[in-house]
Amino acid sequence: MRLASVVDDANEVSRASALIALGARLQVLEAETRLSRERLLKLYKELKGCSPPKGMLPFSTDWFVTWMPNIHASLLVNIHRRLAACTKLDRADALVRTYRLYLEHCAAQELDPALSITRAWRLLKFVEAGMLKLTPCTRCAGHYIVREGDLTRHYVCGLCDVPARAGKTRAAALAAA
Ligand SMILES: [Zn+2]
Repeated sequence: MRLASVVDDANEVSRASALIALGARLQVLEAETRLSRERLLKLYKELKGCSPPKGMLPFSTDWFVTWMPNIHASLLVNIHRRLAACTKLDRADALVRTYRLYLEHCAAQELDPALSITRAWRLLKFVEAGMLKLTPCTRCAGHYIVREGDLTRHYVCGLCDVPARAGKTRAAALAAA
């Protein structure tokens, strides 16, 4: 695809660079920028000093509804919603901004980020496609990720009803929520 101007091209390169710096896989770059695969590969090698990992992305919606990933996924989608409500960002820029805010939040709470930017991208795609959605917890009123078709009338989130095996990380997760 021919780009309209040098400025547009520079913007695309800057977007791709921001995504690469955050660890995005090639599939994300191809979907979210208008640069050719050849240029993306070149840019990736230049910035990372190696070729991007190959292979398909393995994520399914199930992973996002397991306990700890669900808390992280819900946090990220809530950040994305808030950004979308008060800014007019391009999709790729919104992803970058959302992911940076998510990392800042994890750092502030001394949590290991459970989501890579590629997972975050996949998650937002699932939400966009209606395969995952936010639903309010009937106890704390926070909004959490559930699968389309899950029964949610009496939904209680993973922080209000912590599974026993999650005891160790409970304090950290509560602080993050
Ligand atoms: Zn709750």
